Amino acid sequence: MAFVMARTKGGGEWVQKFVESIDKEKCIACGRCYKACPSSVMTLDAEEDEDGDEQKFMILVNAENCIGCLVCAKVCPKACYVHLAQEIA
Ligand code: SF4
Ligand code: SF4
Repeated sequence: MAFVMARTKGGGEWVQKFVESIDKEKCIACGRCYKACPSSVMTLDAEEDEDGDEQKFMILVNAENCIGCLVCAKVCPKACYVHLAQEIA
């Protein structure tokens, strides 16, 4: 099984991990990931809960643009993000 690899400045190889999902149940809609992402991968969404109150949360809208920098996971205070290595087809 082969995965998408990247190289460090010094030429070392590493397996990149790309955004896979955001746990909307944990998300507090703080926007930190949105501000930090260099590739406009996510945006805020909202839906009404059973009490009719608006609940905001982050969703993926351009996951295919992810460059695997992992910044979103680093800045998220609620550990909402899952990243996975990408298998080469
Ligand atoms: S890993 Fe980087 S490019 Fe991908 S969604 Fe997170 S911040 Fe954006
Ligand atoms: S940083 Fe985490 S908690 Fe904040 S909006 Fe993004 S996913 Fe939600």
